[in-house]
Amino acid sequence: MLATTAGIRQAAAYLRSGRLVAFPTETVYGLGADATNPAAVSRVFQAKKRPVGHPLIIHAATTAAAFAVGGGGPRAARLAEQFWPGPLTLVLPLRPDAGIAEAVTGGRHTVALRVPRHPVAAALLREAAMPVAAPSANPHGRLSPTRAQHVRDELGSAVDLVLDGGPADIGVESTVLELGAGQPMLLRAGGISAEELAALIGPLAEPAAHEPARAPGMLRKHYAPNTPLRLNADAPSPDEVYLGFGASRRATCNLSPTGDLEEAARNLFTMLRRLDSARAHRIAVAPIPDHHLGKAINDRLRRAERGAAPSDGPPPAQTVCERPS
Ligand code: AMP
Ligand code: MG
Repeated sequence: MLATTAGIRQAAAYLRSGRLVAFPTETVYGLGADATNPAAVSRVFQAKKRPVGHPLIIHAATTAAAFAVGGGGPRAARLAEQFWPGPLTLVLPLRPDAGIAEAVTGGRHTVALRVPRHPVAAALLREAAMPVAAPSANPHGRLSPTRAQHVRDELGSAVDLVLDGGPADIGVESTVLELGAGQPMLLRAGGISAEELAALIGPLAEPAAHEPARAPGMLRKHYAPNTPLRLNADAPSPDEVYLGFGASRRATCNLSPTGDLEEAARNLFTMLRRLDSARAHRIAVAPIPDHHLGKAINDRLRRAERGAAPSDGPPPAQTVCERPS
């Protein structure tokens, strides 16, 4: 359904009655449910085939509505002032009286909160007037959806309504930052760079590799196409399609011919989907600079590489990206 005023009103009514609504955010499309309704939240896990225990991010219309669910504090307030609405998720102490379904936090005493800035997400959250639990609207482990059609193709009738607000403009998920008693902890690289956050609140810690419980649901394998990936490839071999970055004559698809990391993030999941549909032997990926949004891109590519399963299909179709988005 198109994200008109009437469409948004209907979507809000669906959320209130416990149904699932996919909606655009500035990062990727989310699969939303009333975070205070345990049955609705449980349907999110079923629709995505997401293992229970992986906590969901709660989306709120305003900073005040978000902080009514999770405790603020001066650092959270400063971050919210600078980056909300926007692609930053803060993990904060859960307020026990907020009425959030237990499955949203996986029974934790912390909750992940975000105020998205996409106008359709913002209007929907205002109209629904409730905290909305919304993971990315893709089957668990697969590529995240950056268009309404991706959601329709992959979740089908498991979602009650898809609000179509056009392509997501950032294209990678939100940055997840945990604010506990100690140093702020970067749990997921994303739409706001670690450099931008550090400029405001000082150095960030990152969870050690042996501490997976710290970032629940951050799987080593994730965001995977069916075709295997080969990363940091300067050129493709004959049996590969090539995802380029910067000037390259050989790219089947180019994330950004001018080497712009924002453009690359926006194109990442769409181009991986297109290259996947070429059913090549492998997708070779050009090196991506590892700073700012490049960190989020490289993070997704590494997880996609680990998640990839072998495929044998017809030879590469070199036309998949003739008209890049
Ligand atoms: P998504 O898959 O986009 O819904 O993102 C959810 C991610 O947010 C999880 O994989 C966690 O990394 C993070 N997250 C959500 N809730 C919490 C929480 N209570 N504590 C720590 N991380 C969380
Ligand atoms: Mg996800």
